[in-house]
Amino acid sequence: MSGLGLSKYAPEFMLVFYFWLKFSWHYLRAKSVDSADCPVSGGKKAKVFRYGKDPYATGEVLKLDEISKGHDKYCCVECKHLYALWLRKSANKVGELYSNIYAGGGEVYTENDRKDIQKEMMRIAHKYCSGNVEGAFAGLDFGCGPNFRAAYELRDEGIEAYCSDILPKLPYDGKVFFKFDEHSAEIFKNRFSAISSVDVLEHLNWPVNDFLVFNRMLKPKGFMVHFTPMINHFPVFGSHADHVFHTNFFSSKSLAIICEKTSFRLVNKVVKPRGYWYYIFQKLGEACG
Ligand SMILES: [Zn+2]
Repeated sequence: MSGLGLSKYAPEFMLVFYFWLKFSWHYLRAKSVDSADCPVSGGKKAKVFRYGKDPYATGEVLKLDEISKGHDKYCCVECKHLYALWLRKSANKVGELYSNIYAGGGEVYTENDRKDIQKEMMRIAHKYCSGNVEGAFAGLDFGCGPNFRAAYELRDEGIEAYCSDILPKLPYDGKVFFKFDEHSAEIFKNRFSAISSVDVLEHLNWPVNDFLVFNRMLKPKGFMVHFTPMINHFPVFGSHADHVFHTNFFSSKSLAIICEKTSFRLVNKVVKPRGYWYYIFQKLGEACG
């Protein structure tokens, strides 16, 4: 037994040390470029990280070099935002690519824990809206994927939830569940009290544009609850960054910049050592952009 009584923490310490070492090594090996294009701050200097073949992908998408060979991610020197450039395509095109990630299996619903997190994020949004946002509550589960059932189940609890995604073959009904495209911002202008998402923000390719769309679809003073890993979660939780479809990771600074640019304020962040981490935003005013 250790005289300091620290031995019981040894496994945790080793784990943290391992990820810290991995992260540091990764960072030291990175090259610097001054021709980058940070999607949040507009910064032109970045560190470039090279990632190998995506271990999760199968089927059609393996035809893409970024998936079968490897891809780069850029860490903005100015705001520390981490991003990829390769998936800057239209929502329809991105939807098509996603439907091929697991040979189409991504469109088949199976019971899973993520659905419960989606419901929990919407319940939190619902609470924040109560007494703060005018009119009857309507919440959008953005990027629900095959977990569209979360919204329908929330309705059984008396929470008026809607959901949307970009995958081409999901069972959209156009009432509760709609396919998100470039017209959605206008169609749903000032429609929702809240927008929530789970494991979606790290997939964005045009984060400022997407936040502007969120702003447009929200009612005045509306809330957002987004469950997403931030860049500083990597050393402890392992690297989410190597997944090729993870194209967007916020730092504290890039989050502050995007709020400023799209007229949101960060209300709260909840980061638990093991479990949920999510961010709550409120719409401050109409964003122009
Ligand atoms: Zn930046």
